[in-house]
Amino acid sequence: MTRSFYLRMLVVVAVLALVMTAGGCKGKRLISQDEEIQIGHQAGDEFEAQYGRDHDLQIRAQVNKIGADIARAAKPPDYPYDYRVLADKQPNAVAFPGGRIYIFRGMVDAVDGNADKIAWILAHETTHVARQHAVRRLERQLGQQIAIELLLGEKKDMAKIAGAISGLVLMDYGRDNEYEADRMGMEYAHQAGYDPTAAVAVLKMFQEIQGREPNDFEIMFATHPGNNDRINHAQGYLEQQGWAGRYYSPESAD
Ligand SMILES: [Zn+2]
Repeated sequence: MTRSFYLRMLVVVAVLALVMTAGGCKGKRLISQDEEIQIGHQAGDEFEAQYGRDHDLQIRAQVNKIGADIARAAKPPDYPYDYRVLADKQPNAVAFPGGRIYIFRGMVDAVDGNADKIAWILAHETTHVARQHAVRRLERQLGQQIAIELLLGEKKDMAKIAGAISGLVLMDYGRDNEYEADRMGMEYAHQAGYDPTAAVAVLKMFQEIQGREPNDFEIMFATHPGNNDRINHAQGYLEQQGWAGRYYSPESAD
């Protein structure tokens, strides 16, 4: 769908970030937190422009309230979290580095506006930001490319670097990142006063929708771990934490 457009934008901002940082510090990070936020905002604006914001003020207010609760529970480093509803009927959600998080109207509708389920979805996306999954991956790609250039003794060729980065799909996180987001999402939701067992209900719903309309899932659920594995993992974590709730308790396990 809109990924290629988004990726082109990302390449531009990523190269900008490289230009901004390449001459600078020898430190640990290739991209500073400020740059990360800037990159995420630019990419988020482009992404948002393709869908537009949803105009239902009640839903926007609900997402803002739940998002603020989750943001307070999120672990440092602090980011300017900003939760927005996009006017699209796909059941989807996505996080941009630096704190811009989108939930699609179709996702809110798919869970019937259930606050516990929305909380876990937002918390899952918040974890991708808080744990810097996207920006770390971007840094690895940039770092590898710089290392290759140095080894080859070539002058830095921005077009080549851009080409290397274009292979990167930020939302495609990989299984460890997804499990972590599932787990910490439950933790944030629990801390924020929502029922963390909603994760199980949402994952089961994904499984159901994915079986029915696999092409609808491009962003949040282009998952590497299979849905069954994610459900088992989530249930295992809930048991380990001793958290039972409306959507799952160990005794109700099937
Ligand atoms: Zn995810």
